Amino acid sequence: MKCVKCGKHEAVERGLCEVCLWDSLHIEVPGSIIKKTCSKCGAYFVGKAWVYRDGEEKWERKIFDNFSVNEPFKISGGKLNGTNRLGNYIKLEVEIERTNDDRKVENFEIPFIKESISCPTCNKVTGSYYEAKVQIRGMTGKYTDEMGRIGDHLVRNVENNHTTDPESFISKIEYVKDGIDVYLGKRKDGDSFAKEMKTREITDIIVSKTLAGVRDGKQFFRFTYMVRIMDIEPGSIIYLNGKRYLYQGKSAFGIYLNDLETGREIQVNKRSISFDKLQITGEMASRRSFVVISNGNNECNLMDKQNFSQITISGECKDSEINLYVVDDEYFRIRGE
Ligand SMILES: [Zn+2]
Ligand SMILES: [Zn+2]
Repeated sequence: MKCVKCGKHEAVERGLCEVCLWDSLHIEVPGSIIKKTCSKCGAYFVGKAWVYRDGEEKWERKIFDNFSVNEPFKISGGKLNGTNRLGNYIKLEVEIERTNDDRKVENFEIPFIKESISCPTCNKVTGSYYEAKVQIRGMTGKYTDEMGRIGDHLVRNVENNHTTDPESFISKIEYVKDGIDVYLGKRKDGDSFAKEMKTREITDIIVSKTLAGVRDGKQFFRFTYMVRIMDIEPGSIIYLNGKRYLYQGKSAFGIYLNDLETGREIQVNKRSISFDKLQITGEMASRRSFVVISNGNNECNLMDKQNFSQITISGECKDSEINLYVVDDEYFRIRGE
């Protein structure tokens, strides 16, 4: 069948030949192309939202969505060929396809507008915005190195999350006399930190929320995570549930104590520790050095280097000298030594 329009060539589609079909092509072109980016983090505004990863690529692809063609054609791709010298026109190639093996490339120059602003996320960071506050506190009312270790861990977590989610950031860190306050851009970071602390450390966590205002017609809450950590110095004398103990240290499992009435070593599972029932006396065991005189039969004879008195303790003594905790003239092996 011949083409209904020209009558010259064979019709291929809709009664028209290839030439007449391409003559019917009509391309609708966007009035302008806008490149809106954040001057601080390099994010691109694409469609209706800010894009923080592969922004340029996504913005480029989106440009060709704003071109349209009539049936039976479609846009199969395109590329940007830079701007004119003034930078107010952008050159593009648009690839149009009728069938898989019938394509054409058309060139355009379209008004180009470049905008560089600060994106909402960067505005939050510079505006000290925060959704959550983590308060790291300890047992003694004083700043301890253990708080520093936990605080560093939180900072590393958030910095790591920031690489995939720009809304994760730390807006402020405050060192106060009894701990550290970390202000978080995203509440979820506070949540996951609290969960991690519960499994990895011995902590007492209290979460509270306060109304911070109304935003976009909705109530906006701020969350406080009061994280109390077990930062008692080994060798401390404490009270737990009213009983007096020598604190020997902790692990992910719980704490290690010596009952000061019976001398017995005990392990307290962290789940059964109630922080309110634990008191620090401020008193410390003295730590003294002893010379090992003899060793065997699961006991050893020692001599106090201070007053030369001799004592016997149970267990093996591997070295020629040993340190012990001394409380009320009772001797206790030091855990881990
Ligand atoms: Zn024709
Ligand atoms: Zn930004």
